[in-house]
Amino acid sequence: MMKIGIFGGTFNPPHKGHTRLAEKAAEILELDRMIIIPSCIPPHKIPGKLASGYDRMQMCRLAFEGDFYEISSMELDRGDKSYTVETLRELKTLYPDDEFYFIIGSDMLATFTRWYCWEEILTLAHICAASREKGFEPDLSVYTPEQRERIVILDIEPFEVSSTQLRRIVAGEGETDLLDEKVRQHIEENDLYDDGLSEYRKILYSKLDGFRINHSECVSECAATLAERYGADVEKARLAGLLHDVMKNASADEHLEVIEKTGETLSKLELVNPKVWHQITGAAFLKSEGITDDEEILGAVRWHTTGRADMTLLEKVVYIADFISADRSYPDVGVVRKLAQTSLEEAILYTARYTVKKLVSADLPVHPATVDCYNSMILHLKG
Ligand code: ATP
Repeated sequence: MMKIGIFGGTFNPPHKGHTRLAEKAAEILELDRMIIIPSCIPPHKIPGKLASGYDRMQMCRLAFEGDFYEISSMELDRGDKSYTVETLRELKTLYPDDEFYFIIGSDMLATFTRWYCWEEILTLAHICAASREKGFEPDLSVYTPEQRERIVILDIEPFEVSSTQLRRIVAGEGETDLLDEKVRQHIEENDLYDDGLSEYRKILYSKLDGFRINHSECVSECAATLAERYGADVEKARLAGLLHDVMKNASADEHLEVIEKTGETLSKLELVNPKVWHQITGAAFLKSEGITDDEEILGAVRWHTTGRADMTLLEKVVYIADFISADRSYPDVGVVRKLAQTSLEEAILYTARYTVKKLVSADLPVHPATVDCYNSMILHLKG
């Protein structure tokens, strides 16, 4: 009987977090071999920019070297969405006498009981989970004692890297040692993750800190999804989302410089509220530096914090994307995300109301554009 590790994933691209996990799992579990299976369309996530199955197979061959690994195209060949249970059933017919160890990261274990036929999966394989971040404490109380016995928590020091993060770095032509050099070369030679925004990223990355870059990328992704859903221009949404906070990390002097240079004026209320400066100076900066003169994009940047009455579709998309992007975790984010699935306007009404309430309860002034935004949505939806 062989102990076979099964490691499935999008591998878009495979990175050192993956190879390290595979190596450590092999060591701890004393595996005889491991099958690496790039998935077709990942059922647990919304695909971002997905490299082709062929390229992901190639990258896996480059990343996972040696006879110990077999890179399998079984999920790609099957087409359609990849469900782990189907893969394991198929493997069981090929290896009826062997024992399977299905390797996952802690993010996957957290959603495991929502996987299709998860109970059957546990009968077909041991689930072996490694922590992706510090402080990982899996809740195993939902499992029966027999099921719990099939779950192995791998004691491996977390290695915080993700494919999403690496796609961004390579798209922005940044340096990284978290990718195997041969994988990095394959990406570069085949232009796998170039979404045409690398020139903008260079400017943005020079002006923002890591936290804000991540947020901008998340808003860009979310704005593109919303634009597709509501019929706005997806490429403009992606760019407006990416650039919306371009002046967020600027000092007061830099804001004032842009204001002086572009002839913008701040109202009395804006003068005492630095939190709204960046939407004004952001749009002004993008225009004056010749980064974009697209009025729709500039409008979306100009009003993304306060909103306003009668927003354009792109302004609505970016305003909501900024509130519900994947990195956001404020208390009501789940409600707004749900509303945004069916009605952009309902989501805006909720968000404007939430913002007004929050400011009022903290004894802070409310920008009149936010009040206008709230009023226009109330009239539109309930009037
Ligand atoms: P993305 O950022 O696109 O979601 P990813 O980095 O999570 O990608 P996947 O290909 O989706 O990569 O991951 C395949 C499997 O590897 C999953 O079970 C995932 O939890 C696990 N994994 C990925 N990165 C790490 C890591 N740094 N440490 C531990 N497990 C990881």
